[in-house]
Amino acid sequence: MSQKRTHEIACPFCGHEQEVELYDSIVVDEEPELRVALLSNRLNRVECEMCRKNFRVDKPLVYHDREQELFIHFDPLIGGRTLEQAEESFATAMSALRDLLPEGVEPPETHLVVEWTELIELVFLLEEGLDPRLVEHIKYMMFQQNPDRLDARAKGLLFDAQDSTDEQLCFVVQDRKTRKLEAVLNFSRADYEALVNVFDSGDQLALLKEQFPGPYLNGRLKYLQDQVMADDEAADAGVFSEVPPPL
Ligand SMILES: [Zn+2]
Repeated sequence: MSQKRTHEIACPFCGHEQEVELYDSIVVDEEPELRVALLSNRLNRVECEMCRKNFRVDKPLVYHDREQELFIHFDPLIGGRTLEQAEESFATAMSALRDLLPEGVEPPETHLVVEWTELIELVFLLEEGLDPRLVEHIKYMMFQQNPDRLDARAKGLLFDAQDSTDEQLCFVVQDRKTRKLEAVLNFSRADYEALVNVFDSGDQLALLKEQFPGPYLNGRLKYLQDQVMADDEAADAGVFSEVPPPL
């Protein structure tokens, strides 16, 4: 069953405090209207009773679709919360779930996201039957292949289900600061299928899982981490020894 609780929330526009009911978890196979509300950005939204402005409250939310076997934990990194903390809570929740299940029964595959856009993106992506690990791998390659046009520090890539076709998977470039959508990159579905086949074999799949061990999958972040490692290695090798000392 979907679960709601009352929270005391201050309006970000006028500061007015009010009690509102917000969802902690939604079970969309029981209440499909909650899936629609989520995907149209109406879930956990509040209209301020004072200034009448509308805002979304970023709070943890668990998404269950038992029919399609989609389980997603949304744990927003707000108030200084780090990705490490979100991953720790996730691991704790999973082990608690494991304790509830009969011995030897594994909990269903569950995903972790930390941004609202990632939650929406992942619902669409899983419903399309795409492999989220592979999609992040594709994003990683897009960053790698377009270092000048696609600055991974400033731009994100989002899978766009609505504009994807039978021929092309569509990705939009989003500026991380302004949240503006700026450009579209396509990836051919034939190439995606080819990758599915490549990663079908045990060895290749192990490599992909090494690249993205999960539960949080993020091609952009992985690309940035690998860049830092490559720079460190170059520095260790003395490649940057010509850099003048700081003033
Ligand atoms: Zn207000």
